[in-house]
Amino acid sequence: MSDARQAAEKILGPIDWQGDTHGLCRCPGEHLHNNATRPQDTTVFIDGLPNVFCFHQSCSTARWEANRELRRQISDKSAGLSGPVRIQRDPEAEMLSRLNTIAGDGGQWLDPIPWTASEIYDSSPTPLPDSPDGDYALFLSLFRPDDTIWIGDITDSSPAHFRKQSAWSQLSSAPHPFTTGAVFKPEAEARKNEMVLARKYLVVESDVLDKDKVGSVFRLMRERFRMRLHAIVDTGGKSLHAWFEAPHTPLWEKQLLAFLVPMGIDKATFRASQPVRLPGAARGDKHQRLLWFSPEGVGGQMVEPAVALGLKPAPQDWPPIKSYDLLMSESIAEPKVIIDGALHQGCKLLLGGSSKAYKSWGLIDLAVSLHTGSEWWGLKCHPSRVLFVNFEIQEWSFRNRLMDVARAKNVADRIGDLAVWTLRGYAADLTVIRPIIEKHIDGKGYQAIILDPNYMLMGDRDENNAGDMGGLMNEFEHLAVRHNLSVILSHHFAKGNASGKESIDRFSGSGVFARNPDSLVVLTAHEEDERTFSCDITLRNFPPMDSFVVQWGYPLFRVNHALNPDKLKRPGAHKAIDDDTFLTDMGSKAWQAGDLVRFFVKTHKISERTAYRYLNRLTKAGKILEESGLYRSEPSSF
Ligand SMILES: [Zn+2]
Repeated sequence: MSDARQAAEKILGPIDWQGDTHGLCRCPGEHLHNNATRPQDTTVFIDGLPNVFCFHQSCSTARWEANRELRRQISDKSAGLSGPVRIQRDPEAEMLSRLNTIAGDGGQWLDPIPWTASEIYDSSPTPLPDSPDGDYALFLSLFRPDDTIWIGDITDSSPAHFRKQSAWSQLSSAPHPFTTGAVFKPEAEARKNEMVLARKYLVVESDVLDKDKVGSVFRLMRERFRMRLHAIVDTGGKSLHAWFEAPHTPLWEKQLLAFLVPMGIDKATFRASQPVRLPGAARGDKHQRLLWFSPEGVGGQMVEPAVALGLKPAPQDWPPIKSYDLLMSESIAEPKVIIDGALHQGCKLLLGGSSKAYKSWGLIDLAVSLHTGSEWWGLKCHPSRVLFVNFEIQEWSFRNRLMDVARAKNVADRIGDLAVWTLRGYAADLTVIRPIIEKHIDGKGYQAIILDPNYMLMGDRDENNAGDMGGLMNEFEHLAVRHNLSVILSHHFAKGNASGKESIDRFSGSGVFARNPDSLVVLTAHEEDERTFSCDITLRNFPPMDSFVVQWGYPLFRVNHALNPDKLKRPGAHKAIDDDTFLTDMGSKAWQAGDLVRFFVKTHKISERTAYRYLNRLTKAGKILEESGLYRSEPSSF
């Protein structure tokens, strides 16, 4: 079995293969179906853009997830493609063949949506005339007075049969049995496609489906493809004709054909100049009559059939709106955590700091830590496939840095396949280069991509313009969501901003940078010396994390819990309380944590959280000793 078939079966269970690249499977959202599930309802396609198609719509959310997984797994495998899977070169042809495949014999589509001839008649939005002459007059209102229309017998093709609607309206009854859904050129003298000025209506009929069955097709077109229906004509014979607003693009029309013809719809009337029955005209001893009519049409904006059927992602590929019940009934896995307590796969992390904050070194360390699953600044990383995209540093220099970091962390023998892409000189606005980056990362299974530095990707964008920066962030978001990887970036603050009270305020330019990422890691100069920084971490999806101090010692930052992260290098910095004061005021007593915190809240007017922060950090630094839940200050430590 080919890799792609295996991958599909791993995701979907056993598949009853119907061809090289498609088969019947169990719907991943079967529990969400609100009609009976039949064996032919769900088809998986593994060529081109892999897709699970299901006749039911209620399962779309479950299939959306399965499709993402399928695309990820199969594009992963297609690098070393074996077996009979072909990648279709022409996505349009691929789509048409899929429409053809899923149409089947139509039974599964039409049974659940009956629309019988008598139901159609009863539901006409416009009251229907009593006489055939009234039908003729009403029918003409589907055209504008200036429209040139053809009315005749099948073989009539002379200028006398091409008249403006206003001229045909002079006649009190239908003069001939046929017309077309098209508006012709004013000079038209032959009923040919070349003479058609505009295809106004698509008339749909069937030679094989009976009147009740073909009604189901009309309903399907109205409801599923949201096509605007204007009229249904009873031909006086065995069939019904539906007059729909014509599709706006030839592609959509081709898709309709590919889907409807296998169900028994006649393809002849898809020709613009094809004659069809004119309402009000006699046919033997009967008349061709309107059965349903709406001058302005009923329906909506037509949806591309392949999109409506779920074979093709909608242009924006937006996820569906879900009800509370649906949301609760779905199994939605929490994404993989790649940095404990700080970052999920698929989310964005921004490392901010002044331009002297050694941010690139911090990111190289992070890349190595993620790749090997080691600690980064005291945070446990999980082994992840990482791509480091280096836009700034020359390759020889980057190589030296990477080697030094790996050796200092003692993991040089474990980073053999860490991926590095040096694009110095290739940086441009991310909008321009994102497609190129996507092409290179597609199917490689990366879980994190580090782009350093961020400002190289701004192009002509204005850093102080929220709209410009929001647009850039959307590009990062697109990478993260489309490829399910974490996007890790760095950004600088302008000088002078460091005194901002909150770490989030220290960023230069538009605040979008600080507010958009899921995880924000900010380095601020510490009063200790110029190689010491307070590290504040702001998290969207995790509980708050205490700030800590990191110190630079080539080539790594190391955490130093003995230093107080509140002591920032800035005038008038707010110091909640000194470490020494904290330890001295504890005295020699052994404290319960809660008592200790209440004591400091009362005596020093600090918050509970601050008191806990001091207690935790000084314990980690070994200045407070913990034994059986009791805390004592360690006199020898100060
Ligand atoms: Zn389904």
